[in-house]
Amino acid sequence: MVFEYAPTVTIRSCTGACTEERLCAVGTGGVAQRFARVALRTPLGRSRAWDAVLVAARPSGRYPGCLLPSLFTITDGASLVVIDAELLARNGTGAQMAAHELGHSLGMAHSHSAALTAPGEQPTYIFEYGDSWSIMGAAFAAPPAPMQSALGWLEGRAVARGGTYPLASLATGDALVWDRGLGSRLWIERRTDGPGPGVMLHAETGVQPGYAQSWLITPLPLQPGQTWTDPFTGASLDIGAESVTLR
Ligand SMILES: [Zn+2]
Repeated sequence: MVFEYAPTVTIRSCTGACTEERLCAVGTGGVAQRFARVALRTPLGRSRAWDAVLVAARPSGRYPGCLLPSLFTITDGASLVVIDAELLARNGTGAQMAAHELGHSLGMAHSHSAALTAPGEQPTYIFEYGDSWSIMGAAFAAPPAPMQSALGWLEGRAVARGGTYPLASLATGDALVWDRGLGSRLWIERRTDGPGPGVMLHAETGVQPGYAQSWLITPLPLQPGQTWTDPFTGASLDIGAESVTLR
């Protein structure tokens, strides 16, 4: 069979802790370039079969000092993810790592934790992987509602102060979103996966170009009977077993 190769494969980013120049090199000689050219080859006259390609590599020895996993984003719209084959084979962690890197290839950044800020201000960043309920943070669990919304996986139901709203699990595609003013939105989601159940809040201050962002502002899930208060707007959120009330 005759293949044609992508004529120019440009590596836009490399987020792995890779110290090996040859792997991340943006020139035509980088190992990632060669991986990409082979992975993205297309039978002549047909469209490419893949949007994302995952390569299990064994870097130790041949590329000493290069720590995988690494992610490479390719400018023609496809992604190449390279994962350490030995780590991939491990029970639990291998699947979590693969899901995390594929999350990047779908357009998700890391799930941060943050301090809530006044409406219109960017959240104050605390920890890069601070969301312990997200595959893009520190858990083998679904990405949070704002990321799923940015990818078109769910639509948040808009809520306003002075109402009680039913809230099912995020696993069923349900999430609430409250506009705090000046474009600052707060996502309200009920988790049944991850380290423990409860209601979690994520800040969003508008769509970021390139990557879907999220900022968890409740380090622990809120439990039925608890009330959370927004210090900047005075609004409060009463958590119920199957609903929430925004006052
Ligand atoms: Zn990552």
